[in-house]
Amino acid sequence: MFERVIGQDLPKEMLRTAIKTNKLSHAYIFHGKAGVGKTTMAVEFAKSILCEHQSACGECRSCKQFYSTSDVQIIRPEKSISVENVREITSEIFLKPFHFPKKIYIITEAEKMTVQAQNALLKVFEEPPSYAVIILVTSNVSLLLPTILSRGTEVRFQPLTIHELKEYFITNNRELPPEEILHQANGSVTEALSLSQSESFLQMKASVQESIFSFLSRKTTGAMLRLYRDFLAYEESIDKLCDLFYTCVYDCTVCDSSLKKNPSATQSVSLPLSTASRIYKELTQLAARLSANAGYALSVLSFLIQVRNHLNQERNF
Ligand SMILES: [Zn+2]
Repeated sequence: MFERVIGQDLPKEMLRTAIKTNKLSHAYIFHGKAGVGKTTMAVEFAKSILCEHQSACGECRSCKQFYSTSDVQIIRPEKSISVENVREITSEIFLKPFHFPKKIYIITEAEKMTVQAQNALLKVFEEPPSYAVIILVTSNVSLLLPTILSRGTEVRFQPLTIHELKEYFITNNRELPPEEILHQANGSVTEALSLSQSESFLQMKASVQESIFSFLSRKTTGAMLRLYRDFLAYEESIDKLCDLFYTCVYDCTVCDSSLKKNPSATQSVSLPLSTASRIYKELTQLAARLSANAGYALSVLSFLIQVRNHLNQERNF
C-alpha cells in the first residue's frame, strides 16, 4: 500500500492502520512543506479506502471508477477558496454517495480557503455525515483555523532525505539533478525541480559561495563589497541567496565534513555557534525587511555591515 509515495514512513503506517482497523477519521489534515508527497498520499489513501482489496490495486471496479465517480472530488484551487465554493462542496457532501460506501473530498492547497470559507467547512467537521472523509492538504498549516485543526486528524509529512529525493527522480524516470541541487532543495521535490530548471543557479551559486566564504574568513571591506555586488546582481534570486548564506554559515560551524550541507565546497573558515546564531538572526531580519518592501540595496548593505560587526566581535574576544 502507498508504494507510489516515497519515504513518509510514519504517515504511511498511521493511514495503513486506520484502513486495516476500519478506524477512519472524518477529517484529515495532511501538512508539511511543498513537494514531499502529500497530495500523492491523499490520492493513494482515498483509492485504498475505496479499493475492494484496500490496497489501491488499480484492477478492481472501485479503482477503475476512481477518477470518474462523483463520490470522489479532488479540488485543486487556482486562487482562493471562497465561502460560496465551500457551501457548494458542503451541500454535495450531505448527498449520499452514489457508487461507493464512502464519499471522499480532497482539498489541495487548503490554506487558500478564506477565514469565512473555513468557518463554513467547520460545520461539516463538527457534524460530518457517517460516510464522509475530507482530506485537507496544505503546505502552510498556520493559515488554517485552530478550530479546523482541532477537529481533524493531523498527519505531518517530513522533508525527504537526499536518498529519497534521488529515489523520486529514479522511480519517475526523470533526469536526476546534480548532487548540489539535491542538497539545496531542502527535502522538496518541487524545489529540486525548480532549482534544476533555473540554469543560472549553479553558476550563481559557485560565484556567490566563494564571495560568502571569503567575506566570512577575511572580514575585510573589499570582500564585503564584492558580496554586496553579488547581492545586487542577483536581486531576483534573493531567497536562494539567503538560503545559500545560511548553509555557508552552517558549514562553517561543523567540523565533520559528512555533516556539511555542501561537502564539495572548499573552505576552511570556522565560526563559533554564538556568531552563527547572530548571523542567522540578521538573515531573518533581512528577510523581514525585504518582505515589508524596504529598499533592497540599503537593506542588504546594512545586513552585511551587521554581519561584519559580529565577525569582528568574534575576532576581538
Ligand atoms: Zn482496487
